[in-house]
Amino acid sequence: MTDLLTTALTTAARGWHVFPLAPNAKPPALHAEERCPRTGPCTSGHLGWERRATVDPDVIRRAWSHGPYNVGLACGPSRLVVVDLDTPKHPGDLPPARWAGRGITDGHDVFAALCEEHGQPVHHDTFTVRTGRGGTHLYFTAPTGRVLRNTCGEKGQGLGWKVDTRAHGGYVVAAGSTVAGRPYTVVSDTPPMPLPAWLAALLTPKAPPVAPLDSAAVRARIGRLQAYTRAAVRGETDKVAGAGEGVRNHTLFASAAALGRLVAAGTLPERDATDALLDAGQKTGLGEAECRRTIAKGLARGAGSVGRAA
Ligand SMILES: [Zn+2]
Repeated sequence: MTDLLTTALTTAARGWHVFPLAPNAKPPALHAEERCPRTGPCTSGHLGWERRATVDPDVIRRAWSHGPYNVGLACGPSRLVVVDLDTPKHPGDLPPARWAGRGITDGHDVFAALCEEHGQPVHHDTFTVRTGRGGTHLYFTAPTGRVLRNTCGEKGQGLGWKVDTRAHGGYVVAAGSTVAGRPYTVVSDTPPMPLPAWLAALLTPKAPPVAPLDSAAVRARIGRLQAYTRAAVRGETDKVAGAGEGVRNHTLFASAAALGRLVAAGTLPERDATDALLDAGQKTGLGEAECRRTIAKGLARGAGSVGRAA
């Protein structure tokens, strides 16, 4: 058994979902969507690395029998949030103003400063990996009831310079892998601690302010669409508006899937489809958040069925 197969199996045995990365490198070793053969796991539509990441030892043995793949750990399905403390890539890679002049030289320093600013201990007694370039991955279990996504440096919800986080939509190179000849090693083999509440709060996206929907404006926008599209939107929104309490959510989903095909075909702007369905859905008494979730899922289903038929 190769070392990397052992690494993949022991990582998965912790309940962490793994997938192969290119040998001695970081990119996924799975085929890209453009080259999808639509066979095997992709028979009913392409699956990316996050959906193919697995804890199944048989699948892992098969995958790693083809080559010395590095081990990618998909954070979302593994219910992990990994804080990634990085080091500068070259001598000119210096901290921005917020961190300058405080003796800060890398992501470790930024994270320590952040902990101090929040009155929190700098040391976290949690599963920790040293990366090939001398960075640090702090593994935390993800909070329940909310979906955290990746952050990058100071952008948006990001924690700070040279501090990234990997959660849903993200992966890390697992310990036992080697990138450019440099190994990733476990430096603290203790179970991951829950993501501290103050970090979870910083990483939770603030809901964007949403203007209340103006039914008349939505109707006017729909009225300007091509006749066929307009008729389709009216037909689907009528179905939703007429749906009773037990079936309204399912009807909303089905109508969103129907309109999703038009969105995918480019004849109906996604925003018009969403607003028209949201207006109809809310009239049945469904809440806005629930409507938006159902509509998004339905539109994605409709768009997916177009992709598969093509
Ligand atoms: Zn595929």
